Amino acid sequence: MFVLDRQAGRLEGRWLPAGAALLAWKAIIRDDPQVPTLVAQPGLARAAYLSWQRLHDYGIPFDALDCGESLETEAFARWCRAYRRLVRERGWVDAAMAPALVHPSSALPGIELVGFDQLTPLQQALTERWAAAGVEIRRDAGSQPPAVTVGRVSALDGAAEIDAAARWAAQRLHSRADCRIAIVVADLGRRRDEVRRIVDRVLTPESGLTRGPAPESRSFELAAARPLIEQPVVAAVLDLLESLVRPPDLAAMSRLLRNPFVGGADGEGAARSRLDARLRRYERPGFTLAALERAAAERACPDLAARLAVARAVISNWPEKVLPSICTKTIFELTAALGWPGAAPGSAEHQAEQRWRSLVSELGACDEFTGRVGRAEALSLLREMAEQVLFEPQELRAPLLVIDAATCAGMRFDALWVSGLDASRWPPPATPDPFLPRAEQLRRGLPRASAEVAAREARQTLGRLLASAPEVILSVPDTEDEAPLLPSPLLQGVAMVADLPRWPSPPLAAARHAARPALDALVDGHLPPVSAEEATRGGARLLELQSACPFRAQVEVRLGARALEEPAIGLDAAERGDLVHAALARLWEELGEQAALLKLDDGGVLAAVQRAVEAALAEARLSADPVLAQLLDLEARWLEARVLEMLEADRARTPFAVAGVEQSCMARIGALSLQMRLDRVDRLADGSLAVIDYKTGSNAEVRSWLDERPRLPQLPAYVAALGPSNVGAVAFARLRSGDTGYVGVARDAEGFPGLKVPGAKGGPKGFESWQQLLDAWAQRLETLANEYACGDARLAPDPPRACQYCHLGMLCRIRETASGAAGEEAGDE
Ligand code: SF4
Repeated sequence: MFVLDRQAGRLEGRWLPAGAALLAWKAIIRDDPQVPTLVAQPGLARAAYLSWQRLHDYGIPFDALDCGESLETEAFARWCRAYRRLVRERGWVDAAMAPALVHPSSALPGIELVGFDQLTPLQQALTERWAAAGVEIRRDAGSQPPAVTVGRVSALDGAAEIDAAARWAAQRLHSRADCRIAIVVADLGRRRDEVRRIVDRVLTPESGLTRGPAPESRSFELAAARPLIEQPVVAAVLDLLESLVRPPDLAAMSRLLRNPFVGGADGEGAARSRLDARLRRYERPGFTLAALERAAAERACPDLAARLAVARAVISNWPEKVLPSICTKTIFELTAALGWPGAAPGSAEHQAEQRWRSLVSELGACDEFTGRVGRAEALSLLREMAEQVLFEPQELRAPLLVIDAATCAGMRFDALWVSGLDASRWPPPATPDPFLPRAEQLRRGLPRASAEVAAREARQTLGRLLASAPEVILSVPDTEDEAPLLPSPLLQGVAMVADLPRWPSPPLAAARHAARPALDALVDGHLPPVSAEEATRGGARLLELQSACPFRAQVEVRLGARALEEPAIGLDAAERGDLVHAALARLWEELGEQAALLKLDDGGVLAAVQRAVEAALAEARLSADPVLAQLLDLEARWLEARVLEMLEADRARTPFAVAGVEQSCMARIGALSLQMRLDRVDRLADGSLAVIDYKTGSNAEVRSWLDERPRLPQLPAYVAALGPSNVGAVAFARLRSGDTGYVGVARDAEGFPGLKVPGAKGGPKGFESWQQLLDAWAQRLETLANEYACGDARLAPDPPRACQYCHLGMLCRIRETASGAAGEEAGDE
């Protein structure tokens, strides 16, 4: 109305949006030398701005603030003086001040007041002024008849209460589909997700399969506003803008490629996903927007490339520091260039988009508080404003509404359930405003100014709820966090309902499941046998995968289902492992044998290790940014320490020479011919070979070779590659802080001291001799190879062990197998 008045020339003054007003309060509080620096000033500014609004709503005179009641009221009085001076000097009008100024002509021919439990003094004065000026004021309060049927029920706790309410609503909707029902939940904002999930389980049982709320449920409407920033379409646009203005960030580029609200995402979605996978695999942090634009053009994403080109041009014209009103224009240009929010936003997305656009416009009103701001700073301001704005899209009218007590004021239903009526909430405790004088709050009846006021308001609200429907159920949770609760004293005289009709148990999900049509069961645990070409594809890891999960081996090795890499700063685990291999390979290429190591003094050993480590890091250092360079220095120190520890273990061994490092060879195992790469092979004093595998993880143990389906069958496979009769020892070389050294098995104790010897004391259980162990390995590897060659694609025989770190759960759907489904149904009861 204020804006209408201004447009009509009836009022002067400039509109001050809430975001800008909050910035003004922040600045005032920040500049107040009496505010301790430890106090959270943004929170303080929000609380003070709220008190400013209450002060106007309840007509508290500014003089009353000078009562000196407390440090808080004194501080608030100072801030109010500063704020009033500011708005007066600059001719602003904010949301608290505007109602007193609005001209009656804006309300003509009349208005109807709906949903007011009680008018504030400001609203009262406003309506009286308008009525005196000839505006017709209609008010429906008190016109509703009281409920015909009121009953009371109790439930174990808050969750059981919502479940009971949802079943009651489901039963009523089942018998009469055209009725309108509401469930009132006291702290709905806080419990939004929990309540949605419980009601979904009853009304939209399919949501049980997704283990979460159905985002677009049409069976009920949940009226609880959340911050605008939590709307996906808004979160997406902020993420997009930030990825354009912040320093290059591969993770942000990856999100940009997957953002469904960028124009052209429908047509180019698959190509953009492939490009994302490629970037994750091959690119390093520091990948720029220009490089992304080129990659998009080369990889079948011409629409995205064109949009990025325009966006980059817009950004290049965005000055480093500029007033927010200029930023507003650039932000609109950028979102237009990116085609946000896509071709066909849904209704809720469209509403959120409109609210976002008005928020960006509000940013333009902040010039006088912020001065010139950088690009990232402007976006941070927008993010902060979007966190403050509460937004709830207007959904389709569903037959069931879940709502809080304040929001449903003025609404009528066929039946109503009011939950959470325990003594601690009805009436709620007093929460007087910390900045306004207590006496004024009591005199003017501010909400919850005292226990008496809170009790009176609670009675009024309950009375209004009871008049909202002909049938009302009032429910009380018996416990909260296992502590007992008492019923509200306001329920005195309300009779318990013994036989409340509810949607029958078993729950709807189970009922629908039981009524499902008969399906043919098909256990499809096989792919076609491997072709001759496929029989040579895949290395020793194929055997590891096959051992843990035949399905995973088939889809990873034959069908190429790989996990997406996660872009990260620094080195990932695989890269760290590669550095260990490279440093040790370089070192032993230089030393050649143990004798050379023994000839070196400590300084010589250290110098050799440092040369090897630096050689290993050389390539990574070439393209490292300052952050990565620091991380590589740390990595070099860790690596040097571990390699020196490893050399101590090598000095203690009987004589050996290194026969090969990072050596490729082929093994014929069952029906497969597998290409392998051996970390290191030593020739021992008796002429036999020792196969050595470097490990930095914690799972390198002899146990991992001994099961019927060995967990880490690579080393047994290397034995097969070298010829079992040539091998005298097999060992993991573990490089871990505090745990560096060799673990493994050997034919005899002299060849490789410290390893376990089959058949000897302390040797691996179940194996009487070295030969028996070699025979068992050969047979078990052959079984695994032949399973794979036949196309065996069963799910993991031991899911708890195999599935923990597997990325294929969505593809194999192990959770939906018989055992998973049984667990799901049990949990549904
Ligand atoms: S999740 Fe488990 S069953 Fe599924 S592919 Fe992975 S390891 Fe196999």
